[in-house]
Amino acid sequence: MKIANLDVFVLKTPLDQPFAFSQGWVHQRSATLVRVTTDNGLAGWGEAFTQGLEPPEIAAAAITHAFKPLVLGCNPLDTSVLWHKMYNQSRDYGRKGSVLAAISAIDIALWDIAGQFYSQPIYQLLGGAQRTSVQPYATGFYRLEGKNESQRLAKEARDHRDAGFRAMKVKLGFGVADDIDVMAAISDALGDHSIELMVDTNHAYGRAEALSLGKALEAYNIRWYEEPVVPEDVESYKALRAQLCVPIAGGENEHSTFGFNHLFQQHALDVAQPDIGSCGGITAIRDITAMAQANGVMVNPHVWGAAVAQAASLQILATLPVTNHSLFPTEPILEYDRSDHPFRQKLIDAPWAMRDGIVNIPDGPGLGIKINMDVVDEYSLPTA
Ligand code: CA
Repeated sequence: MKIANLDVFVLKTPLDQPFAFSQGWVHQRSATLVRVTTDNGLAGWGEAFTQGLEPPEIAAAAITHAFKPLVLGCNPLDTSVLWHKMYNQSRDYGRKGSVLAAISAIDIALWDIAGQFYSQPIYQLLGGAQRTSVQPYATGFYRLEGKNESQRLAKEARDHRDAGFRAMKVKLGFGVADDIDVMAAISDALGDHSIELMVDTNHAYGRAEALSLGKALEAYNIRWYEEPVVPEDVESYKALRAQLCVPIAGGENEHSTFGFNHLFQQHALDVAQPDIGSCGGITAIRDITAMAQANGVMVNPHVWGAAVAQAASLQILATLPVTNHSLFPTEPILEYDRSDHPFRQKLIDAPWAMRDGIVNIPDGPGLGIKINMDVVDEYSLPTA
């Protein structure tokens, strides 16, 4: 079996109502998709993560110009061989960001092909499912004004709870005082300590402000405190871990085994959050997970992409071993983006949804999804 072709699709659509996280305003949702086809008629899909401020054309260009020529004609089952080939070839200009997202997209597509070739879900090829369903947590609480939105956000918390979510992640990073107002309003609105909260400042603060917020967060039932400082400031991650009893999470802006190795060596994280669409795909997160497990760090994938990235995340969530085994261990949890995304789930013909508080993990071959090409075409732009 050989890789016969590789097509890239850049999907974009403006949002009716732009929203903000601490780093800026999100005006559009986008995705970089790749379809790898084989000489015996299989087609695998992958997705490069494009975060809110990231133009999807960057990963698309890297796929087209840097990686497509490297993988054409190769055996798609050589997932590890091709990963290292792509990484080594791009090391001097890649290693992070959109270039790693491009590798991720191709890698996910190759695993999708492998699953179809062996008629098994990807989780089976990785050694089997630790679980067949996963609890989702609601990601939301984006801002429409910026500050002074605590009452609207408190209502949003009730809406997530009423929709069945037992865990939710609050976007903070709009000033420590405003953040504390938001947490107090949400806590009052929920009034139910069985709801688990996470917070995410998207690295809005330096160490002192991050510590000040972290001290205030200790009053709440916080599962993790995400990206408290910029990803480069590993020393502050360590300091915050030492000074707070709230678990520290990060890693959505880190990449590859090399990047995560540094975080683990520095004991910077309680929870590692590689994004499968940008950390290097299935191959990389498999290896990052092994490293995390050996370092006592929980892996909880970040995912904010469209249906292909979500499907890849579900396959990995099936495989993750618990970090601290016990009769009642802490299980990984699915990031379930509740913010506006006009084509996220329309991309596939059988979108999953939360039912009875859980999401079932697809058990079909590969990613277990079928892509709606009419939706791909509707949102696609020509790529250079
Ligand atoms: Ca985040």
